[in-house]
Amino acid sequence: EGMDAHEIRNRYLAFLEENGHTLIPRAPLVPRGDTSTLFNGSGMQSLLPYLLGETHPAGQRLVDSQPCVRAQDIDDVGDNRHTTFFEMLGNWSLGDYFKEEQIRQFSAFLFDVVGLDPEHVYVTCFIGDEANGIPRDDEAASIWARVFAERGVSNGIAAIGSQADGDARGVHPGERIFFYDGGENWWSRGGSLEATPIGDPCGPDSEVFYDFGPSHQDASYGLAHPASDGGQFMEIGNQVFMQYRRLDDGSFEELARRNVDFGGGLERIAAASLGSDDVFRISLLWPIIEKLESLTGKSYDDETASMRIIADHLRGATFLAVDGVRPSNKEQGYVMRRLLRRAIRLALSLGLAENFFAEVVPVIADLYADDYPEVAASRDEVVAVLVKEENSFRRTLEGGLIALGEYEGRVLTGADVFRLSDTHGFPRELSVEEARRLGIEVAADWEAEFAEALEEQRARSRGATRLGAAGLPGGAAASS
Ligand code: ATP
Ligand code: MG
Ligand code: MG
Ligand code: MG
Repeated sequence: EGMDAHEIRNRYLAFLEENGHTLIPRAPLVPRGDTSTLFNGSGMQSLLPYLLGETHPAGQRLVDSQPCVRAQDIDDVGDNRHTTFFEMLGNWSLGDYFKEEQIRQFSAFLFDVVGLDPEHVYVTCFIGDEANGIPRDDEAASIWARVFAERGVSNGIAAIGSQADGDARGVHPGERIFFYDGGENWWSRGGSLEATPIGDPCGPDSEVFYDFGPSHQDASYGLAHPASDGGQFMEIGNQVFMQYRRLDDGSFEELARRNVDFGGGLERIAAASLGSDDVFRISLLWPIIEKLESLTGKSYDDETASMRIIADHLRGATFLAVDGVRPSNKEQGYVMRRLLRRAIRLALSLGLAENFFAEVVPVIADLYADDYPEVAASRDEVVAVLVKEENSFRRTLEGGLIALGEYEGRVLTGADVFRLSDTHGFPRELSVEEARRLGIEVAADWEAEFAEALEEQRARSRGATRLGAAGLPGGAAASS
């Protein structure tokens, strides 16, 4: 039952190509010539110059599937819908079609190609902003209303004004289209309506959600509505309508040349197609989980969060390696190293004390090898890179765990954590997490004390550098 994730991606690309879009190559995970972010986190990111007005060589209708890394989502990984690595299906209209064609195109893809039941689909639109003279996006809402009516599903509109209003009110029976304010349903590079940078294009967006039913709502999030994040509704896509530009005086003017930016979560659409709210059940992730189950002899049902994190982190690190990142102590390489080390530690907590990357990484590579030739081409090298990091961290881990064991029966202080990191290369989060796991008490103020010890060490080495530089002729070494 449901459509396989591989097929959803390939059918999406084909469907958009049939509709006049040019398939463009994906951008690398590490943005070229842009040091403002470590990773490419959306389909739009590498297309920004064209959304801001440059002419794209491939034309006005573009489509791709963009591998993304959002290190900022790392604390959410372990839930049913966030991964640090994911694929974003994207299509763009650069001064070509607008709301009507976009909404019809995406809804036809969801309902006719993937086969989602329209009864389970809910949408949001922008409520308007009187102070800035921006009307409610009735245009998008009424297109959606017609699309739903044509599909014969119940179709009301709820004038929810903000996340807080939604939290207070929830969803009433029959409602399907919701209005939210400029914190939720507005796109600009600044992230909200108020934060729209001067000179920038911007505009309302319309998000699409899949409803898994009230039993999926985590009650601690309150009443369910599309923007409540409580589990009943999962965001599967976002359509941005770039329709305005912010002027020097802070006001907004209508643009003559309007763009559409669409980004949809491949893994989430595939999960919705399966009728499962768990993205790890889809064809691009489940084989990794199965491999972890067989290696650990434990079941996913009992070790859900740990296995999700291991699978996500190894998948992300594999793709980073394909794109040329290597484990290191800075920037992208450091994030990659953290993903790998965290996967090893969690595997250890599942009883997997042996090296296991050589078993899992090929499984991951094989999931992408057919559709991403660069994965097939670099497969052996990627396995070697990850296995090498695993070997080196395994040694650190063993040494550190022995050193940590000596604190049994004592309180682990920030100074101790610093010593473990300084002399054993044992990362601080690791010391603290492992100490807790071993039942060693950790001092409440460990972080402050750690920071102090680190600062002292830095001051010492600054002093040493100054002395060193002063002692050299010509001051040539002063460049540090
Ligand atoms: P969420 O609110 O669920 O964190 P988002 O609003 O941050 O998602 P967008 O920036 O709108 O996401 O990205 C477009 C689409 O990409 C989302 O609608 C979602 O389907 C998907 N997506 C975003 N973040 C993730 C993630 N960490 N893992 C998997 N899919 C994601
Ligand atoms: Mg998010
Ligand atoms: Mg969102
Ligand atoms: Mg969104």
